Amino acid sequence: MNDQLERLNRLPLRSNLRGLSPYGAPQLDVPILLNVNENTHGVPADVRAAISAAVTEAAAGLNRYPDREFTQLRTALAEYLGHDLTAENLWAANGSNEVLQQILQAFGGPGRTALGFPPTYSMYPLLASGTDTEYVAGARADKYELSAEFAAQQVRELQPNIVFLCSPNNPTGTGLGLDVVDAVYEAGTASQTIVIVDEAYHEFAHDGTPSALTLLPGRERLIVSRTMSKAFALAGARIGYMAAAPEVTDALRLVRLPYHLSAITQATALAALEHREALMADVADIKIQRDRIVAELTRMGLSPAASDSNYVFFGGLADQHQAWEYLLADGVLVRDVGIAGHLRVTAGTEPETTAFLTSLERFLADPHAAHA
Ligand SMILES: *Cc1c(COP(=O)(O)O)cnc(C)c1O
Repeated sequence: MNDQLERLNRLPLRSNLRGLSPYGAPQLDVPILLNVNENTHGVPADVRAAISAAVTEAAAGLNRYPDREFTQLRTALAEYLGHDLTAENLWAANGSNEVLQQILQAFGGPGRTALGFPPTYSMYPLLASGTDTEYVAGARADKYELSAEFAAQQVRELQPNIVFLCSPNNPTGTGLGLDVVDAVYEAGTASQTIVIVDEAYHEFAHDGTPSALTLLPGRERLIVSRTMSKAFALAGARIGYMAAAPEVTDALRLVRLPYHLSAITQATALAALEHREALMADVADIKIQRDRIVAELTRMGLSPAASDSNYVFFGGLADQHQAWEYLLADGVLVRDVGIAGHLRVTAGTEPETTAFLTSLERFLADPHAAHA
């Protein structure tokens, strides 16, 4: 690694990229993968069939560039989100990470700042440095909570060009009240701050949890970002999107690569949106497993955070790395996000969740116990 770093340092790399590490959640060959919040239920058979048929049809036209405006997809996404949104309000790219990157390209850049509230999604600072935007780490009053007043105060003081609000937050899984979004938006009026609400996991929220989409009317600096990587089980297809005022989509048109969304990607997304019934049934099952994890970890004497996502962040471990290794030896990969005493686990299928809970309970009883 040091050799690699030395060789890299001999290149005329941009100074703000020097010494940085790339995003690197381990991709290990383990039977039970509960580490990057993927949808563990796979793509349902009818969705798979619909995608295959749509992709076959799209393949016939691959000699031509795709619809640069992906109008059919933007219309379908607007219909899916509701809230009186139209195609004019929608934008998509190769994963919501690309959408976020385009937002930073348009509204961030050299001399500009983006504010996030750690612990939060680890990609925000990386996307900031990739666009030469200064990332500012805001504070949370209580370890993980973010109150409307405290968040707004920091926005008034720091006057960032962009604010990232992640709801439910990754890695904690806890949602933000819309009062926080509203207060941050108002606090950013003088500085014309763009407010991004990253709702990557919204479909997993408990029934009745309001979306920041309800706040869009009249707020042209507000952006709500979503993805098909989680609820739609399409992490491998790379499709993310956002809803905002039409002028925001016009800004992103200035920085996107021409034809950035391939015909294959557009066909895949459309087919999945059309056949979403089975996908939403899996989401309901994942929510049951998520609630089961929270209940079981509580029974084991651990302290799981309230979760509106498809994962659970929990504390109460004497040594989280030892627990991580124990689970791995049982074939269960979870995420150590680098917070002492804590781990994050994605809700699996029922058998996967059982395997995780059984292994963890055995570890808690005796960290040196034999493996399954
Ligand atoms: C998984 C995740 C995303 C999704 O990223 P994609 O590029 O759409 O796969 C976005 N935001 C957060 C907080 C996530 O955890």
